Amino acid sequence: MSDDIFAAGFKTRPYWWEAAAPSADGLDPLPDAVDVAIVGGGYCGLSAGLELARGGAEVAVLDREAPGFGASSRNGGMVGGALKIPSDALARAVGPEQARALIEEGDRSFDFIETLIAREKIACHYRRSGRFTAAHSPGHYAALARRIEGSEAAKAGLVAMVPRARQREEIGSDFYHGGMRGERGGGLHPALYHQGLAQAARRAGAKICAPADVTGITRQQGMFHVEHSAGKIVAREVMIATNGYTTAAFPWHRRRVIPVASYIIATEELAPELARGLSPKGRMLGDTKRVLFYFRLSPDGKRLLFGGRVGFKTIDEVAAAKRLHRCMRGVYPQLNGVRLTHSWRGNVAFTFDILPHMGRHEGMHYAMGCNGSGVAMATYLGYQTALKIACRANRACAFDERPFPTSVVYRGTPWFLPLVGGYYRARDAVERALAR
Ligand SMILES: Cc1cc2nc3c(=O)[nH]c(=O)nc-3n(C[C@H](O)[C@H](O)[C@H](O)COP(=O)(O)OP(=O)(O)OC[C@H]3O[C@@H](n4cnc5c(N)ncnc54)[C@H](O)[C@@H]3O)c2cc1C
Repeated sequence: MSDDIFAAGFKTRPYWWEAAAPSADGLDPLPDAVDVAIVGGGYCGLSAGLELARGGAEVAVLDREAPGFGASSRNGGMVGGALKIPSDALARAVGPEQARALIEEGDRSFDFIETLIAREKIACHYRRSGRFTAAHSPGHYAALARRIEGSEAAKAGLVAMVPRARQREEIGSDFYHGGMRGERGGGLHPALYHQGLAQAARRAGAKICAPADVTGITRQQGMFHVEHSAGKIVAREVMIATNGYTTAAFPWHRRRVIPVASYIIATEELAPELARGLSPKGRMLGDTKRVLFYFRLSPDGKRLLFGGRVGFKTIDEVAAAKRLHRCMRGVYPQLNGVRLTHSWRGNVAFTFDILPHMGRHEGMHYAMGCNGSGVAMATYLGYQTALKIACRANRACAFDERPFPTSVVYRGTPWFLPLVGGYYRARDAVERALAR
């Protein structure tokens, strides 16, 4: 393929960084001692830092890069509280009662982030746009319909099926076989949200310090000694919030989260009519494939941002852009000839049970593993961990202290991804072919 899909000035970094690039300038000096040291300055660590500082604790949030360098300034900005594991599969795995508790807790994460953005007045273009989940095959449409049939959300009109004949009300494409619209979902500018959360945490008194690569933590006389690239901090409590960027300093956690690269492209500005037609209601869009596409208009409504997992072996942003551009044209043939201004990637943290986790290991708190759905969830688990550390939780969070599985074959390098990814992709292709 020729390189004429790239606009002049094409960049291999997130589109979001045009408005708010991660920066370590003007951050706080590293303290020698704090009440709580938090490793990781993404949504999770910042949200924990904010809540702890609001309660009066001395907190330092440490990041080895400029805070926001991780997934928190690279994601699609889609906000929702649904878990990645389908409710029927979850009920089979953990039983109906626990499944209900986990699903309700997920729902709370959505309410929580909306309240937080309003309370802290975070200017991040948040809009409750709703979401449309497009069915990849008639079988997937039927499965979605079964999942919501008779549910409270369906009765309340919060979710509904949209047949293929009416699909263009939701998405300017005939690629899919209908889908499900959901009203409890929204979109934001992820890097501005991260920046606003960092400002809120600092306003409350939390210190944000970077670069500070945490290389090891030991416990001596009841206190944690946090060794980092610029020295040491002594802390009463520690929280690990490193998600898909967990380093070898935390081998136990690294064996439990699988970093998988996800890629996004941004188009050049589109003609207003063309842009509006792609997503008439400005919804967050995604599909039901195992190796899914997720896409949306930019907050100003002028560009399409189109994401997916186009390589299970990590590939560079230019190669990914070419593949994603082809996928985007498959969904939206009207974007033939449209050029790209940005292409980037970030690590999604998958877990072996497809559930997020918070808990404690060797006395240290952790929260991670949002499976590609962590804008609300990482923020919420950070908050819940802070309540737990401050002994202010009046009930246990449903995600707290659940068994955090790993696999004997996994030591932190996901060598098996190309095999699993190839299998999933093949199943998607077969289902699509059968649907024709
Ligand atoms: C491309 C992409 C698209 C996504 N789209 C969506 C979406 O649309 N909606 C959604 O809900 N979720 C989405 N997600 C997931 C979401 O972005 C994440 O779940 C969320 O940002 C995780 O936040 P976090 O704070 O846990 O981790 P991160 O933001 O990844 O932060 C972890 C931080 O830990 C730091 N760190 C690691 N090791 C150390 C160490 N040893 N010392 C110091 N610091 C360390 C890293 O530098 C990093 O900054 C997407 C993710 C990606 C990658």
